[in-house]
Amino acid sequence: MTDDPNAPLLEVEDLSTSFRTDSGRLVAVDGIDFTVEAGETVCLVGESGSGKTVASESITRLPNSPPARIDGSVRFRGVDLFECSDTDLRQYRGNRIAHIFQNSQLNHCYSVGWQIVEAIRIHEDVSKTAARARGIDLLERVGIPNASSRFDDYPHEFSGGQKQRIMIAMALAGNPDLLIADEPTTALDLTVQAQLVRLLAEIQSEFGMGILLVTHDLGVVAEIADRVVVMYAGKIMERGDVFDIFERPAHPYTQALLDCLPERANASGGIPGSLPDPTARPEGCRFADRCPHTLEACRTGGQPPELEVESGHHASCIYYGQGYDVSVVCDGQGESDDCDGQDESDNRDSTDVSKDRERVSEANKR
Ligand code: SF4
Repeated sequence: MTDDPNAPLLEVEDLSTSFRTDSGRLVAVDGIDFTVEAGETVCLVGESGSGKTVASESITRLPNSPPARIDGSVRFRGVDLFECSDTDLRQYRGNRIAHIFQNSQLNHCYSVGWQIVEAIRIHEDVSKTAARARGIDLLERVGIPNASSRFDDYPHEFSGGQKQRIMIAMALAGNPDLLIADEPTTALDLTVQAQLVRLLAEIQSEFGMGILLVTHDLGVVAEIADRVVVMYAGKIMERGDVFDIFERPAHPYTQALLDCLPERANASGGIPGSLPDPTARPEGCRFADRCPHTLEACRTGGQPPELEVESGHHASCIYYGQGYDVSVVCDGQGESDDCDGQDESDNRDSTDVSKDRERVSEANKR
């Protein structure tokens, strides 16, 4: 099993994950595709229950089977991880592909140093002394002050933000090529969140790894993402680069998510309604019951395919197909009245777009 350094870092193709339950088969992820390149940050966003956590954990086949059933293919540097034996897969998990799990916590019974040394020695055959030196180095790298004197302290002696920095240090122990971080800043105050997002960006530019960030927090997305993949009810609704998504959101679901941002002039208190029952999803577009633009045709024929809005920007909405008045779903979104975004984007320079990004980022820090 040899991977190809010239192959894309991560290619997810037709990934589906379902679970057997007493009330039937629950399809959490339903045939999704996306890629992550080295040095790139891709954010998987959506409300709780959209399937983003299950999708991220399925990459290294973490959900237990049964009850889970995982189909499709996931290639890492050209190696199909779903074709690997469990033994081979362990060479990738935590080593080449590191996870920071939602709500993951340090073990309060052991010193931080002991836990970092263990994490390093799982991946590398090094002495305890060498692992300790590397652990102190990692703690310094993630911004823990006086790392060598604090190495033997216990988790309760660190603040919430410092504990999350230590979790990041442990994830870096195997020198991963890909970091999958699931809501790594949730439950922290906004200032600490902003510091951690900046830390992830710094680490990425230093180590050149790819990051798949799973989050519902669009403020964090604005600050760190290169590309954004929006999920709803197990499907991808929209994808594009971060500027396209924030400036010209094409899908009514993305527009509704962005309208929840407090700094938006028309900020809403949330999206009315709730996600469809995952064991009995509607036949047509999954967002139809909550969408302000639903047509009769939206309720038949499965989820619309992802249609091109502009180069590199796609949305799963029938209005981007032939014969529909696309202005219905994009008028008044972002700062453009131009639905394909082409003319308007030609007139906007990168400074305009950066200002938009900074505006959202600053609001996130407040
Ligand atoms: S396909 Fe129809 S229901 Fe779905 S997002 Fe588009 S307009 Fe709304």
